[in-house]
Amino acid sequence: MIIKPSTTYTGRFAPSPTGPLHFGSLVACLASFLDARAAGGRWLLRMEDVDRSRCHEEFARQIPRTLERLGFQWDGDILLQSQRTARYQAVLDRLHAAGWTYACGCSRREIADSAFSGADGPIYPGTCRNKRLAATGNAVRIRTRPGIIQFNDRVQGPVSQRIAEEIGDFVLRRRDHLFAYQLAVVVDDADQGVTDVVRGADLLDSTPRQIFLQQVLGVPEPAYLHIPVAVNAAGQKLSKQTLAPAVDDESGCDQLNRALQFLGQPVVEGTQAQQPAALLEIAVAQWNPATIPRSRFCHIP
Ligand code: GLU
Repeated sequence: MIIKPSTTYTGRFAPSPTGPLHFGSLVACLASFLDARAAGGRWLLRMEDVDRSRCHEEFARQIPRTLERLGFQWDGDILLQSQRTARYQAVLDRLHAAGWTYACGCSRREIADSAFSGADGPIYPGTCRNKRLAATGNAVRIRTRPGIIQFNDRVQGPVSQRIAEEIGDFVLRRRDHLFAYQLAVVVDDADQGVTDVVRGADLLDSTPRQIFLQQVLGVPEPAYLHIPVAVNAAGQKLSKQTLAPAVDDESGCDQLNRALQFLGQPVVEGTQAQQPAALLEIAVAQWNPATIPRSRFCHIP
C-alpha cells in the first residue's frame, strides 16, 4: 500500500456494535476524543461491524446517537467495516501473491489438541503451512517470522512480544470468510491516516500482531496509548455478557465525570457540568495522559 504518513494527529474510536455503549466503551471513547482534541487533531468514528454474527445494525445506529447526546462530535463520515470487504480482500490477495499467507483447514478442536497456550489463546503450530490448501472454505493465516516486536505504549510503557513463538501464524480471514479484526483494523487505520490509537488495554496483546502487519504492508505505525480496562466488582470486563448497564440509562454529565475520574482526570463541576459539550471542552483543556493509571485493569468508580 502506498500511504503517506499523516502529519495531522488523527485519532479514532472504533466500537464493535455488539450492544449499546457501556461505561467500558465510554472511557475508551472519551480518552481517544480528549487526546485527539487536546492535540488539535482529527477524531474519527468507525463501526467495527465486520463480524456480522455478533454485531447488529440497531447498535451501529444507536451508538452514534448516544455519542451525540454525550456531546461528542466526530470528523467526517462514520466508516463501516461491513462495507469494506472488497478492500480487505484486495489486501489479502496482495499478501497471498507475495507468499505471506496460506490456507488452514484445522478445526478449533484440532488446534486446541495440538497447541501450547500462548499470550492470546493456543499458539498455532503451523500444521497447514506447507499443505497448499485452497483458500475457499478454509481460514487464511499469515506466516509469522521469528523476532521481537517492540513498542512503547504511552501509558503501559515498553511492550514486547515474540509473535512467532507466543502467538504463531494468525488468522486474517476466517473459515466462514469473515475478515479477522487484526487485518481490518490495520487496513482501516492505515487508510484513514490514523496516527494515534487510544483504546482499552484488553487489546495490548493484539498490538504486536498489528505492528507486524503494518511492517509487512509497509504502512506507518501509529503511536499507541492503552487505557486500563474497566472491570466490575467481580473483576469482570464490562460487556454485554457481564450485563454492563447501557450508558443511556444515566445522565450524560454524570457519566462523563465518572469516566474522567476513571481516567485519573479532574472532574468538571459547577455550571460547566450541566451540558455535555461544555463539560468536554473543559476536559480537553485539562487532559493530562500522565495521570491515567498505569495498569491494565481498574475497577469502575
Ligand atoms: N472494535 C474493538 C472493540 O470494540 C476496538 C478496536 C480498536 O480500537 O482497535 O473492542
